[in-house]
Amino acid sequence: MKNGENNTVNPDTPETNRNLHTATMEILTYPNKFLSEPTHPVKNIDGELQNMIERMAVTMYQAPGIGLAAIQVGINQSFLIYDVSPPDSERSLQVLVNPRIVSKEGTTISEEEGCLSVPDFRADVKRAASILVEGFDRNEKPFRMEAQGLLAVVLQHEIDHLNGILFIDRISALKRGIYKRKVKKNLKNT
Ligand SMILES: [Zn+2]
Repeated sequence: MKNGENNTVNPDTPETNRNLHTATMEILTYPNKFLSEPTHPVKNIDGELQNMIERMAVTMYQAPGIGLAAIQVGINQSFLIYDVSPPDSERSLQVLVNPRIVSKEGTTISEEEGCLSVPDFRADVKRAASILVEGFDRNEKPFRMEAQGLLAVVLQHEIDHLNGILFIDRISALKRGIYKRKVKKNLKNT
């Protein structure tokens, strides 16, 4: 998920500059078909996975974004990272492996939602106000977490990605049509 416009993280810190050029991953964008294929569960939380998590983190902070699902960087496995800590506070990278939403409550409108895989477009999206998520952390420890507010929206957005769903799939056909036409036009001009 993309940062809010006036909520941008400064990517120009020593931490993210480390191995920046070798470590960042290409973020796939709509209409890449890969983004609409559901991912497979992670079988082993091994060194390879930890390595991918590190590279995804660099990619997310550099974008800048507050959430990134593995599918967005071409990995068809069910894990995601996020960091919803305020821009001027310490970073707090979180990793969810094989996450699933076990219950939802209420509705909220996530205003001007954006996505690193859907460039130059934002829309209001109807989301559950509160969710209960289960899965594993990067140390293979099972977790169960209740989320509200921004965190609930970010997790719904990223877990949607793992199921092959983009936020534009959750808006009206009319609004989606506007974006699709824009993308088609841009593709023609390149
Ligand atoms: Zn996204």
